[in-house]
Amino acid sequence: MGRDALISLWQDTAEELVVPEPRVDPSRSFDVAIIGAGFSGLWTAYYLKEHDPAIKVAIFESQRVGFGASGRNGGWVSGFLPMSLGDLESSFGRAQAVEMYRHSFATIDEIERVIRAEKIECGFHRGGTLHGATNAVQAQRVKDEIEEARRFGFGEEHYRLLSSDEMRDRLSVPNLVLASYTPHCAVVHPLKMVRGLASAVLRLGVEIFENSRVAEFRAKSVRTANGEYRADVVVRATEGYTSQITDHRRLLAPLYSYMVATAPLTTDQVARLNWHNRETYHDARNMIIYSQLTADNRIAFGGRGAPYHFASRIKPGFDTNQRIHDKIIRSMHSVFPVSTEVAVTHRWGGPLGVPRNWQPSVNFDEQSGLASLGGYVGDGVAATNLAARTLAHLIRKADHELTRLPWVNQPSRKWEIEPLRYIGINGLIKLSESMDKHERRTDKPDRIREAVLKTFLG
Ligand SMILES: Cc1cc2nc3c(=O)[nH]c(=O)nc-3n(C[C@H](O)[C@H](O)[C@H](O)COP(=O)(O)OP(=O)(O)OC[C@H]3O[C@@H](n4cnc5c(N)ncnc54)[C@H](O)[C@@H]3O)c2cc1C
Repeated sequence: MGRDALISLWQDTAEELVVPEPRVDPSRSFDVAIIGAGFSGLWTAYYLKEHDPAIKVAIFESQRVGFGASGRNGGWVSGFLPMSLGDLESSFGRAQAVEMYRHSFATIDEIERVIRAEKIECGFHRGGTLHGATNAVQAQRVKDEIEEARRFGFGEEHYRLLSSDEMRDRLSVPNLVLASYTPHCAVVHPLKMVRGLASAVLRLGVEIFENSRVAEFRAKSVRTANGEYRADVVVRATEGYTSQITDHRRLLAPLYSYMVATAPLTTDQVARLNWHNRETYHDARNMIIYSQLTADNRIAFGGRGAPYHFASRIKPGFDTNQRIHDKIIRSMHSVFPVSTEVAVTHRWGGPLGVPRNWQPSVNFDEQSGLASLGGYVGDGVAATNLAARTLAHLIRKADHELTRLPWVNQPSRKWEIEPLRYIGINGLIKLSESMDKHERRTDKPDRIREAVLKTFLG
């Protein structure tokens, strides 16, 4: 068997996007300049144009459209946020927590609407999510999530426990103790989606400057190697790469998530998995894993847990990590034994953005015109849409229910200086791993480590 490719499955299977060269002339000015052509930047441009076709919007992207996490992710379009209903309630109250989740769930419909309206071919399929538990501690975690959802008024139609027969009918995973199901998730080919969205914004008249890194920005201007462009509003949509911009080094810690994909399964292998409706699957371990069955029947499987790099460093060499990829393959083999029968064809990864409070935010300062959105902690495929819709209303100064959501103008405090950040984040990663080991070994929660984790995340 040959060595698998160190590029993403998505890159290997999407058509190139040709972006017309915009006129490079720094004497030009725009109503809105957006830094970053991932989902955050593109959705922001899309909604600004939808509200006001005459608005002049430019996007500056240091590489190519979809170069960042948006073109590399697990393709989960999930209505779930990195902060739980309970987390939101303790910071903003019950009503705001419910509103936030209500809008987040509805975002999947909105994304589907645009994908259909703009004829974006990205294999969008709404199969929902299965959340499995393979030991007693994980089972309790899944039950607690459902109980929390009920406490906030989200009934069976949003989230429910499956009987073991129901679970077997949907997906065959060994050693499952129990599982839950929610319809609030779809799967996509993320690079096709981000390129399709870019084509849509180009059609609406947005200009995209590729290979145009913004070295610095301030109110009313962005500076690239070609000079300084002026704009009334400047939006930072740089997520995991934010730490590379002067003066923004401690806003978001870049944590790496890694993925692998297998060769297509045979019809018989898919039948043995019982995976008929392409639900996304994860389990309730502390160190997140995530998987989808692609439109061409490959298993795309990812996991977190890679070490954080000192001083928030990012470099192309970090996009693959043999040790972590091998670990992810072992996890995939244990979750889906059938995957041992097929080759792993692709391995890849990339940075996602984590704010100090682990909660994304949408920020706009009317006076300076400076805006930002992000900090999705690895749950951004759908959340970028909700954040961008919200930001478009804020920029238009429109009074809208989205602009009253609790993540508006709630920037996190900065990360600690080094080496505290390095010690803290890597300690947290080790802690999550050791909790999983303890839970597997003893079938009991590790209360002490749980308390340490809570303190750090709080
Ligand atoms: C391996 C992996 C798997 C994931 N899986 C999922 C998943 O299944 N579901 C989910 O919801 N989320 C997932 N995520 C997270 C999700 O992909 C992100 O939250 C989301 O794509 C963020 O979009 P964004 O546009 O904010 O950031 P990005 O897509 O990272 O875009 C930022 C862009 O800004 C550009 N940029 C940065 N600095 C500059 C600069 N100075 N000048 C100009 N341009 C700049 C970058 O080149 C990049 O293109 C995953 C992430 C990774 C890495």
